[in-house]
Amino acid sequence: MHDYQAQLALYINGEWHDGGDRRREPVLNPATEEVIGQLPLATSADLDDALTAAAVGFERWRITAPGERANLMRRAAELLRQRAEEIGRLITLDQGKPLPEAIGEVRRAAELLEWDAGEAQRAYGRVVPSPHGLSQSVVRQPIGPVAAFPTWNVPSISPARKIGGALAAGCSIIVKASEETPAAACALVRCFADAGLPAGVLNLVFGVPAEVSAHLIASSVIRLVTFTGPIGVGKHLAGLCAERMIPAIMELGGHSPFIVCDDADVEAALDHGVSGRFRNAGQICTAPTRFLVHARHYERFVAGFVDRARALTVGDGFADGVAMGPLANARRLDAMERMVQDALARSGRLAAGGARIGNKGYFFQPTVLVDVPDDAEAMTTEPFGPLALIAPFEDLGAAIAKANGLAYGLSAYAFTNTASIAARLGAELEAGTVSINHLGGALPETPFGGLKESGYGREGGAESLDGYTTVKLISHLNG
Ligand code: NAD
Repeated sequence: MHDYQAQLALYINGEWHDGGDRRREPVLNPATEEVIGQLPLATSADLDDALTAAAVGFERWRITAPGERANLMRRAAELLRQRAEEIGRLITLDQGKPLPEAIGEVRRAAELLEWDAGEAQRAYGRVVPSPHGLSQSVVRQPIGPVAAFPTWNVPSISPARKIGGALAAGCSIIVKASEETPAAACALVRCFADAGLPAGVLNLVFGVPAEVSAHLIASSVIRLVTFTGPIGVGKHLAGLCAERMIPAIMELGGHSPFIVCDDADVEAALDHGVSGRFRNAGQICTAPTRFLVHARHYERFVAGFVDRARALTVGDGFADGVAMGPLANARRLDAMERMVQDALARSGRLAAGGARIGNKGYFFQPTVLVDVPDDAEAMTTEPFGPLALIAPFEDLGAAIAKANGLAYGLSAYAFTNTASIAARLGAELEAGTVSINHLGGALPETPFGGLKESGYGREGGAESLDGYTTVKLISHLNG
């Protein structure tokens, strides 16, 4: 087995720190609940060092030519690709997802970095014609050192998105990656170090999340915060940013509707719906969760969903043929049990699953609930676990209203074979991404982010550097 512990270290000003007399926190394998490593936590002095390093690193990186920044990012992405299998194993070990999924995630992280490298060279400005003899240039400049807080459910993609945007724009960055799934972030940072990134441009710390975020965001060095995680934490961090009037990119939760219209290809909807719901044990913010199915197909859809859910092999992500691993932490297991009990107490019906598997490891059955009232916890709060909620509808307008009825607005899905219905759904569903007749996905070339309480700002696509740059008008009166 890979030496997991050897990965775990802080990276500050171009140097690795793997412990000393720092406090440490155990990292668990969610499939076995065994301790697989001891993660060093940053001291207050470490955070100050990271801030100083980021300030100095920014002065150097901001004047590094975009082509040079892009080349270095591409070298790091290539190293990441070469190390994908090894890093995938680290992810399966601390996060739990099946190994092929974990390796695929690392490869996707490399693609995201390559996309952002290209955007470094496309951060165009413009010249604005003037009737008054002025030369008016609008330029984009890097916003400054960034404090980044990626999430635990995609331990490679989430830091890669934030590092990619920052470095491509010419910003330096301090990443506080997840303490529960730290190894992939360490491995990613190692790729940048090995690619020759100058000291201070990229720093990696771990710690007590609330202490680290309060410390970093209060510093005048930090000019932007980027966070992926729950809405409540996002609001808290946005409040800290407001105190310093600095902007933030917030990628928060979702509770995504999946509408199956009366003219839909039901089998295709089932294939996509089941795989989307149970991928990563349901711990994906864009996953479809609320299945709204036209009454004509309702019974067939529920039966098909239940059959497919029961056929999924749940087990250790390292085992062959496993479709779904454990939940990533005990909190999700507790949440699944609570949401199922609450739904059943409110007249919901269990169509499949509903219980923990075994008593070692955070395994939970792929679960299907029907007839769940709208005020049940699972209907109003993102499940973030292997729990599907299916309800019938008669009128498409009512289904759209229900889809839009929560404070979330991250992703929405629909299946229909009628162009005018597809157009209506695209126009009326309140979500940052609407995917019709497929599962969508946060691709490198497309913008990803939410509406409403799902957050603001975008990662990826032509918008990738928007949050990491400021717009400046330079106006020159010609003599
Ligand atoms: P949690 O409150 O324990 O923490 C969530 C994440 O936020 C962790 O990575 C934690 O380190 C970080 N965090 C918490 N307080 C922080 C602070 N003050 N400053 C900086 N970081 C802080 O929640 P959880 O149990 O991990 O997840 C709960 C819910 O969050 C899930 O059910 C899901 O709905 C949502 N979630 C969404 C995403 C996403 O991709 N949008 C990712 C993870 C969790």
